[in-house]
Amino acid sequence: MIVAMQENATEDQIFAVIETMEEAGVSVHRTTGASQTILAGVGPTAKIDLGIFEVLPGVENVHRISVPYKLAGRAFRPEGTVVKFPNGASIGGKQVAIIAGPCAIENREQIFTIAKCVKDAGGQFMRGGAFKPRSSPYSFQGLGIPGLELMHEAAEANGLMTITEVMEISQIEPMMPYTDCFQVGARNFQNFNLLRELGQVRKPVLLKRGIAATIEELLLSAEYIMAGGNYDVILCERGIRTYETATRNTMDISAIPVVKKLSHLPIAGDPSHGTGRRDMVPPMAKAAVAAGADAILIEIHPNADKAASDAAQTLYLDQFQKLITELRVIATAVGRTL
Ligand code: PEP
Ligand code: MN
Repeated sequence: MIVAMQENATEDQIFAVIETMEEAGVSVHRTTGASQTILAGVGPTAKIDLGIFEVLPGVENVHRISVPYKLAGRAFRPEGTVVKFPNGASIGGKQVAIIAGPCAIENREQIFTIAKCVKDAGGQFMRGGAFKPRSSPYSFQGLGIPGLELMHEAAEANGLMTITEVMEISQIEPMMPYTDCFQVGARNFQNFNLLRELGQVRKPVLLKRGIAATIEELLLSAEYIMAGGNYDVILCERGIRTYETATRNTMDISAIPVVKKLSHLPIAGDPSHGTGRRDMVPPMAKAAVAAGADAILIEIHPNADKAASDAAQTLYLDQFQKLITELRVIATAVGRTL
């Protein structure tokens, strides 16, 4: 259920409503928007008579949420979520954020060269995997924590935030000092124990859509994180598996406006995994920005063909620089900046 408070509702009135909701047996999630406080009640709300809340002082309206994702749904934050980071960057505002970096962190020179390139292109976030979910157990599995130390150092030297994939609960704690945003990859997007644990963390989470996931399943996975009180979730469209074999995955551009309609959470477009092909990355990056993506996630490498993972979809640094220049034109055309 959603209780929308009046614009001028006092803190005392808000607390009184929260108390009444808790007495009725629901747990309350509060969001304080620019003009209005919204209280979402989750739990056994079907049996509750909403009339008892409608008459409380300061309440504007009360309604049930018909969708299964109560906190990830638009109604919880009608004005949209902006996820803010310590370097002043944000994801979900007017500016389309640039997240770029290698698929995997390989060595010091690689990661420092890339960090400088991301910064020079005007990017705010650096990505790079240290724990890699490879399809084959014989492929490069990542450098682990020493790799994250390298990326953190390179990012800090260039004023960038870091995003990196977490694969299991035991990695969260040791990763904490080196990551500004935890990525949950396509293969783990329904690892509900991991999602619950990330709900307890007070750092943003970038949640990728699963390889065969519906948009509703993506939003329900976000709900697992949010139910723990971590509302800083960024969704990511990274392509789904279809019968098409011309590309590695089929990048579902339409997921971007669908998510924008159903949810208040920001959504990133990942044309690198979305297509799996270097030549297809720029056009699909442009399509994602045109469709309303709040961030764009691109794999780059100074020696792309020799990248330790995902080489075929990785852009060379000059290709990335050119793409960013082109994306700025698209962003302007759709009323955004980049
Ligand atoms: C990645 O970002 O390198 C990655 C493994 O992504 P995905 O989970 O989308 O395959
Ligand atoms: Mn990759």
